[in-house]
Amino acid sequence: MSFVFSPSPVSSLPIIGSELRFPIRRVFCIGRNYAEHAREMGSSVDKSAPMFFCKPADAVIGDGADVPYPQATSDLHHEVEMVLALGRGGRDLAAEQAEAMIWGYGVGLDLTRRDLQARAKAKGQPWDTAKAFDGSAPVSALCPASHARPDAETRLALTVNGELRQQTALADMVHGVPEILVALSGLFELRPGDLIFTGTPAGVAALQRGDRFHASLDGIAELHGRIV
Ligand code: MN
Repeated sequence: MSFVFSPSPVSSLPIIGSELRFPIRRVFCIGRNYAEHAREMGSSVDKSAPMFFCKPADAVIGDGADVPYPQATSDLHHEVEMVLALGRGGRDLAAEQAEAMIWGYGVGLDLTRRDLQARAKAKGQPWDTAKAFDGSAPVSALCPASHARPDAETRLALTVNGELRQQTALADMVHGVPEILVALSGLFELRPGDLIFTGTPAGVAALQRGDRFHASLDGIAELHGRIV
């Protein structure tokens, strides 16, 4: 096949303990999945209707990379989240099928232009400019599910310049992993290569140029980076 110009390269992530890479298809995110975070945003959780948005696959940045402070904002926020990496997919999945779709786990930042998000919310507009900008999704190397799986006690945390900003146990998720996969697969056909950001706990705050961040999903994955 010949193209009028070279197609963009496939976005991918390294895998812990392997030379192979995980090819990324789509990036889905759930909003308002920890009650304390929904409250700090002046919102509440709708248990019956999880809220989803997307980022482009090429918004993903790997571990250790410099993250450029994005254009068009003066309020860039961190949201630390567990990231699911799917090795299988499907539509209208049942809860019992969900766990088997997961190829691996990572930790990532759902970077957010909070000022643009506030404007979009006020006008009832979509969140794309707030959430789906270039470099908006730093993600760790992935830990294969065959190697380790998080459980309800697993801690998710973020430090910025050595100071603890966000931390939680996964037990505090409003919609658990099977529930997220059931709901998302009722809206989209999920495929191998899909990443799913599973929501952030309380403590979201601004990042500045020069800040160094360290995100961790205990015993599973770690992400380092610097805002430049
Ligand atoms: Mn988020």
